[in-house]
Amino acid sequence: MTTQIEDLVGLTEIAERCNVSKNVASGWTRKHTFPEIKHKLAMGPMWDWKEVQAYLFPTPKVEVRILKGDAFAYAPKSPCDGCGSEDVRIEGDGELKITATSAWVEYVLHCNVCTREFDRELELKKEEA
Ligand SMILES: [Zn+2]
Repeated sequence: MTTQIEDLVGLTEIAERCNVSKNVASGWTRKHTFPEIKHKLAMGPMWDWKEVQAYLFPTPKVEVRILKGDAFAYAPKSPCDGCGSEDVRIEGDGELKITATSAWVEYVLHCNVCTREFDRELELKKEEA
């Protein structure tokens, strides 16, 4: 993936676009799994926004086997969009009803720390039996 100049973001932009404080954004960027720094200026390091987005808001995938009609799958937890906490709960204990025709399901998570509510999409890789 090539980085275009308009894709470059600093800490301030990451914080603004994710609606979090610079402190929270700074904590994210210090994790060793965070995307690599693309460029460094006096104002600080810069990252590729597309890589940051893919890192912060990944689309999880689950494999489900649908025998006849509907099936259930369990949604994976993901860290809070607001504070980055992993202390989150999924509405309905994460049990998702999947119909034979659905390729995506949306589910809602609640952060136990900052009480933010956020949602995720789950892409289904289905295997018809
Ligand atoms: Zn939170």
